[in-house]
Amino acid sequence: KRRIAVMTSGGDAPGMNGAVRAVVRMSIAKGCEAYAIYEGYDGLVKGGDMIKEMKWTDVRGYLGEGGTLIGTARCAAFFERPGRLQAAKNMVLKGIDALVICGGDGSLTGADKFRAEWPGLLEELVKNGELSAEQISPFKHLNIVGLVGSIDNDMSSTDATIGCYSSLGRICESVDYIDATAFSHQRAFVIEVMGRHCGWLALMAGVSCGADFIFIPEKPPSENWRQEMAKIIGKHRKLGKRKTIVIVAEGAHDLNLEKITPAMVKDVLCNDLHLDTRITTLGHVQRGGQACAYDRMLSTLQGAEAVNAVLEATPDTPSPVISIIENKIVRKPLLEAVKLTQQVTEAIKAKDFERAMHLRDAE
Ligand code: ATP
Repeated sequence: KRRIAVMTSGGDAPGMNGAVRAVVRMSIAKGCEAYAIYEGYDGLVKGGDMIKEMKWTDVRGYLGEGGTLIGTARCAAFFERPGRLQAAKNMVLKGIDALVICGGDGSLTGADKFRAEWPGLLEELVKNGELSAEQISPFKHLNIVGLVGSIDNDMSSTDATIGCYSSLGRICESVDYIDATAFSHQRAFVIEVMGRHCGWLALMAGVSCGADFIFIPEKPPSENWRQEMAKIIGKHRKLGKRKTIVIVAEGAHDLNLEKITPAMVKDVLCNDLHLDTRITTLGHVQRGGQACAYDRMLSTLQGAEAVNAVLEATPDTPSPVISIIENKIVRKPLLEAVKLTQQVTEAIKAKDFERAMHLRDAE
């Protein structure tokens, strides 16, 4: 029986458990054996008990659970060849030659590198006497399939990453709570949201909550953003608005890439508009809690498709990442998706913001 393993890696995101459940159950439904690798690449490098067979009932209750029940980690050892050598040995010892990884672009880059090195790693293990030629002979190729798990929605080549809509929902709910108190006291709130280099969460939260002003890294405000923001918010107040909400992405900066912090925004609201202003950093509540319906659906459909992709792979098929584009679950070349995503960050660094916006949407 073919053995297919699933792993979660990088930052946790709601929906990762749904993906694990779907991969496990689809693998079993297709006549394969399913394995889970615990604690991300750490578990792959350590092997032994960290790589466990999963039966149908082992993933009962996984669908809506937040975080990742099989754990995740940042693993320094996997960046180095000796770590990957050990990982290859552990996989062969468990009889696994297919790996579905739910993680961010870093995790998926590492996985594809592992696949490229795989034949060389096995040869080295035989040469070192750690494995025999018979042991490696059934495992000529490694299949890698990526699922993008991240609250940031920062991956090009897909419209949504697993976790981003749960996080957006959590942010909206939190802003609603803040709205009530802001309205009561006629206060202004500057709310920092997650997303690292990506402004999707901030932008969509701003749209969904009717924010007065939004700061995102892909479209920095003009040099005189202070006056501009004060003018707009001043106008809103004159029109009778009792509350002010400004959303700042954690990666926000100005046209010169100087960071724009919530404290800088607060200064303008206090000093120029004389608003009683508070800062709220939403922090890790944005990552926690149940997966929303969309993420349960996305992780289930993508997890099932990942198993199909494993079973249909040939040695020449490039590693795929499972995406959703215009509401269809599709396979895209993993490395191209990662490259496009990295190009966004490069375009921002080069202050080519138009290109950054274009690449964010690229398929
Ligand atoms: P997130 O978007 O949440 O940060 P990520 O998958 O991008 O998720 P990383 O911390 O970049 O998170 O990567 C997770 C792990 O994947 C790393 O700790 C490392 O073990 C492995 N990894 C990342 N990049 C590489 C690489 N270039 N080569 C080998 N392994 C890598």
